[in-house]
Amino acid sequence: MRGLADCHIHSELCGHATGTPAEMIDAIAWAGLYGAVMTEHLPLKRELDPDGIYSMRGDIDLLYVAELRDMRFDWDGLNLVIGAEADWISTDVAWTKESVRSAREKGIEVVLGSVHFLDGWAFDDPDQREVWDTKEVDKVWEQYFSEWCKAAQSGLFDVMAHPDLVKKFGHFARDAAQYYDEASRVAASAGVLCEVSTAGWRKPVGQLYPDSLMIELLIQRGVGLTMGSDAHAPDEVAYRFDTCARTLYELGARQVAYPQRERRVTWLEL
Ligand SMILES: [Zn+2]
Ligand SMILES: [Zn+2]
Repeated sequence: MRGLADCHIHSELCGHATGTPAEMIDAIAWAGLYGAVMTEHLPLKRELDPDGIYSMRGDIDLLYVAELRDMRFDWDGLNLVIGAEADWISTDVAWTKESVRSAREKGIEVVLGSVHFLDGWAFDDPDQREVWDTKEVDKVWEQYFSEWCKAAQSGLFDVMAHPDLVKKFGHFARDAAQYYDEASRVAASAGVLCEVSTAGWRKPVGQLYPDSLMIELLIQRGVGLTMGSDAHAPDEVAYRFDTCARTLYELGARQVAYPQRERRVTWLEL
């Protein structure tokens, strides 16, 4: 593996992944990466995650930071950033802000912003997939990107994760291009980094997140791109990173971003 950084990795702490933090760190070391960002799901509001299957429990996020700090100390040469993935909850932006503020105060160095919920519907959860049958796809896309743009403009997040997650099960708006155009403009004006996620290659849609059109627009508009596997198991760390790096190079990127604490960025050559 060339000198890349996997900037989106989970562990069993989120309730829907396998691998302890130590096992994920092992996998990071073995993948031969330049560096990585651990990005566990921040605790969600109880009503959105009553069974604890989407996020860390409220009482373990401090332990998460402490454990990763210990590992960073113990592993010589391990280039690890302590991050988290936060939910943009459109119906309660004050809660979203407080969740991110509190995470940063507890030592989270980099925060990914994600839209996983639309009016309380976890639209990307396979167990809630049948809800799609009751929806108009164009309307879902409109709502998703409207929320995504608000999240990108909020200034809360270092990186916007898996930008077109809404296509996960293969649902596409008739005019997807207009959403990619708008979202890339908003990301550029907000100065937020955007993730290119190889997780889409493991999902029914079988594509990178985001679409290559949006990647091109982001590059043209000067938006910094990170690479993330969204690993939920040790063998998913750096998933298909060589292919992803080649794709980004072909689309015109020459560097990728490796976000650091205090909004600093290390640039890695492709
Ligand atoms: Zn996510
Ligand atoms: Zn994730």
